[in-house]
Amino acid sequence: MSRSRSGPSTEAAQRLRLRRALLGVLANVFTASFAVGYYAAGIVAGAPLAHYLAALVILNAVFLALIASGRNLRFSDPSLTDFQVIAPLWPSIYIMYFLTVPQARMTFLLMALVGMLFATLAYGIRRLLGIASVIVFSYLLLLAALLQWAPERIDLRVEVVIVFAYAVVLLLIAFIGNQVAALRRVVKARNRELESAVAELRELATLDPLTRLPNRRSIMDHLLQEESRAERRTPEQNSLCLCLVDVDHFKRINDTYGHQVGDRALQQVADALVNVLRKGDFVGRYGGEEFLLILPESTREGARIAADRVRRHIEQSGMSALESAEHLTVSIGVAVHSPGDSVEKTLGRADAALYEAKGKGRNQVVLAGEEKG
Ligand code: GH3
Ligand code: MG
Ligand code: MG
Repeated sequence: MSRSRSGPSTEAAQRLRLRRALLGVLANVFTASFAVGYYAAGIVAGAPLAHYLAALVILNAVFLALIASGRNLRFSDPSLTDFQVIAPLWPSIYIMYFLTVPQARMTFLLMALVGMLFATLAYGIRRLLGIASVIVFSYLLLLAALLQWAPERIDLRVEVVIVFAYAVVLLLIAFIGNQVAALRRVVKARNRELESAVAELRELATLDPLTRLPNRRSIMDHLLQEESRAERRTPEQNSLCLCLVDVDHFKRINDTYGHQVGDRALQQVADALVNVLRKGDFVGRYGGEEFLLILPESTREGARIAADRVRRHIEQSGMSALESAEHLTVSIGVAVHSPGDSVEKTLGRADAALYEAKGKGRNQVVLAGEEKG
């Protein structure tokens, strides 16, 4: 079987088709058992019953094999619903011819309605009307045959009414089914709209609109996840390190160039941070002109080197939002998370280190705990 077209959605669709197919087979099993009942009651002879059952078994086996093997995917309608509805109709028409009591034919007409109901799940009004016509036309052929060769088994006055009533029921099923399908389409479209609205809301809730970086809430979530991963590590393994990055004298940028230029400069700082970070590191906007870098597995020295790389990168990046002579710098406080501490405490230590970097003249990296010891 060719799997080239089978994505995950195809597989889900195939499972649904197989479930529907089994349901169809079950309906056929019921119809067959009614036929056996008529045989037991002496209403149909053994030979027509045997032909009928053989045809039904073959049709259902072919149908199930097509779906189970995936060969149904080669058809324009992979659910093969019209095959499922129309094919068992002919054996029914055949056995109906041999029923010696005319009312018994109703059983098979009723069961054909089940097929029509299946079809409403798959098709639009045109195809439904097509299937309904095939069913009615087949029954008319049966009546013609009975009239010709077994007139004693047919009362035309009743049959005319039955054919009309049956056609009306089929028409109604086609129209109601079509309306249900329209409703289903509306629900599907609404679901798609809801999905995209949820995605948009999720983005709004987690991204900072100015820099498109994860916002504070989102980095704190990420930090808590990293914390619980860090708790599971042995002391010999690398640690979770935090770098609090604060743009130096940013107020002056706003005062000199205006808030809008300040905004653009912040966006460029964010881009520069994203560009300099390594895979697996995480950056978010912590607030105002402050950013938080999360290095999930780093040594203390590794974190210092990374922070210094960030510091130098920002210092050397020309910000096109600003005049070319203007260079932004950042101060960075680095803290290594000790298992058992809260992340708030580690953040507090990074903040204290940042404060120290500011006090020492800015544009530098300070490691928490290092200078005090
Ligand atoms: P320091 O070196 O001590 O950090 O000096 P600073 O001027 O950067 O620090 P301060 O905390 O005094 O000022 C931060 C400035 O950052 C003030 C505030 O207007 C500006 N700021 C914060 N968020 C934004 C923003 O979204 N857009 C713009 N344009 N400015 C912002
Ligand atoms: Mg600040
Ligand atoms: Mg600042």
